[in-house]
Amino acid sequence: MARFIFITGGVVSSLGKGLASAALGALLQARGYSVRLRKLDPYLNVDPGTMSPFEHGEVFVTNDGAETDLDLGHYERFTGVSARMTDSVSSGRIYSNVLEKERRGNYLGKTIQVIPHVTDEIKDFIKIGEDEVDFMLCEIGGTVGDIEGLPFFEAIRQFSQDKKRGECIFMHLTLLPFVKASGELKTKPTQHSVKELRSIGISPDILVCRSEGSIPQKEREKLALFCNVRPESVISAKDLNSIYEAPISYHNEGLDQAVLDAFTITPAPKPDLSKWEDVKDRLNNPEGHVNVAIVGKYTQLEDAYKSIAEALTHGGMANRLQVKINWVDAETFEKEDPEIYLSGFHAILVPGGFGERGTEGKIMAAKFAREHKIPYLGICLGMQTAVIESARNMAGISNAGSEEFDHEAGKRRFEPIIYHLKEWVQGNHTVSRKVEDDKGGTMRLGAYSAVLAKGSCVAKIYNSTSIEERHRHRYEVDVKYRKELEKSGLIFSGMSPDGRLPEIVELSDHPWFIGVQFHPELKSKPFDPHPLFRDFIKAAKDISRLF
Ligand code: GLN
Repeated sequence: MARFIFITGGVVSSLGKGLASAALGALLQARGYSVRLRKLDPYLNVDPGTMSPFEHGEVFVTNDGAETDLDLGHYERFTGVSARMTDSVSSGRIYSNVLEKERRGNYLGKTIQVIPHVTDEIKDFIKIGEDEVDFMLCEIGGTVGDIEGLPFFEAIRQFSQDKKRGECIFMHLTLLPFVKASGELKTKPTQHSVKELRSIGISPDILVCRSEGSIPQKEREKLALFCNVRPESVISAKDLNSIYEAPISYHNEGLDQAVLDAFTITPAPKPDLSKWEDVKDRLNNPEGHVNVAIVGKYTQLEDAYKSIAEALTHGGMANRLQVKINWVDAETFEKEDPEIYLSGFHAILVPGGFGERGTEGKIMAAKFAREHKIPYLGICLGMQTAVIESARNMAGISNAGSEEFDHEAGKRRFEPIIYHLKEWVQGNHTVSRKVEDDKGGTMRLGAYSAVLAKGSCVAKIYNSTSIEERHRHRYEVDVKYRKELEKSGLIFSGMSPDGRLPEIVELSDHPWFIGVQFHPELKSKPFDPHPLFRDFIKAAKDISRLF
């Protein structure tokens, strides 16, 4: 039976609760324990799938096809444990489950209330798979005091009472602001935040305090005294150069020891942090650097491409290189010469995206990379725009485009090289969709396998002809153009097992030009970089030598 660690936040948002949870998960693994991490989000969307990337950052997709919060990406990158549909929930999902049960008559005529019906639904969610791991880490999104968060805080309070003493602990993350005028780290906001938490019946066992520098002994003692925690359970979380230094840094500050102490686990098993030492060494001692351009639409908010940025860093670590990421807005050079914006980069990556805006720029980026023989990685929409570019400029289909763009304009301007997929095979059943379907959860989502052509670049990179990768898209390259495109030099080197859905394309006459319909970035880890990103950065390195 799992022990539960509930992670809450106070004072301000964006303190890195997700990272702290992920790093703690990694530290418990380093001590030999199995872990699972979960995110409970108070917003009312049923899932983040329909939220704008500008609003909420990237949507992280799990193997089993859930569209989840980007914190699940951190959890996977730090622990290597594949997240599941049941590792992410929102108020929207909880309420929708409760209301569905009410309509079905499951509550036998009772009046439905936040306590106990909503809180019971939350508790049932927390319990899923509790006998599978040693530790279950549950992060509550938002900040203590938020109205929407209250049912979650109440649910975890009840949950800890339902369990035997010592099976649940609470960890609270706060900020210690530094006031320049007095030269002091201030503890008052943390005291207030803990007061708020205690007013709803939760007493934190561990305080993790974000600050620019370390916490002086005097402030640590003050926090312990006023917040009713042990001094050794006040953990300093100072700003780091890289998120991947977090496990070692938290270990040095005593976080994992404090957690094991709170559970009275003695003697604590010794940690093996060699994996993280190696990660830190690769990050801090690169032997050079490469400049990569990400040509996208959501470039103002880097979180929109979180996993891609991380996967590029991992690819750099595999090659002992620092990857300098340059964000280029695809719209800026649609009416200009892309040369001004794209020359000088050692590689170009076009990420996924939705809607027509910016796509002509992305098509120009693919053309630029093809003609200048710059390594190119197109992901999802970035693959689709690369195929459109080849169709227009190599195969002579001058009005090639995607149904997605026509669909938005309400008229037909393009030959639909990329079409709206309405039926496909998943495992051993067929999935059907209609244009009028709801937007939420109706894309081709989650892990699908692909068969790679023997002797292709991708088969060499993966060192296999059979792969499984995660998808999130509605549109697909129309296989009926395959022959025509292959004749002009665009090879379909990865296909769905039934041969109907193009999964990977590559250019025959190019040092490194690959487009993938899936999202390889979601599976990359700092200690296990994804082969496509590892090889992409290697190609960038080879090019950089020619500059
Ligand atoms: N908008 C495209 C589609 O739905 C690509 C999606 C993506 O890049 N994730 O097919």
